[in-house]
Amino acid sequence: MSFRADILARAARGLCPACARPLPPSPPWDIPPACPGCGLVLRRPGGFFLGSLVWNYGLIAFGALPLLLVAVLLGWLTGRQAAWTALAAGMTLPWFLHRLAWRLWLGTFYGFLPGQLGGVSDD
Ligand SMILES: [Zn+2]
Repeated sequence: MSFRADILARAARGLCPACARPLPPSPPWDIPPACPGCGLVLRRPGGFFLGSLVWNYGLIAFGALPLLLVAVLLGWLTGRQAAWTALAAGMTLPWFLHRLAWRLWLGTFYGFLPGQLGGVSDD
């Protein structure tokens, strides 16, 4: 199994994984249903969204929360402050990371399965 890193990079930059046109602007908690350029369905049915949840969780658990641990270890925050900050971050960050997580998931999915792009990839 090969992985197309160019598709992941394209999707992470906010471009369509298939045609590389910019996806239309939307709030961070939303993703357009389809690419306006090529019609690639971006919100696939059947639990496809679970992949973006994994990316969202990973970005927070392995990106944001370790920063709080470092802040505690450096004495910048008490454990109690870090716990409340982690709770607040856990409640708010997923909304703001949703679009990025979804784009990373699209890039991951189509990076491993470029044949699913329906022949619109420019490879
Ligand atoms: Zn497209």
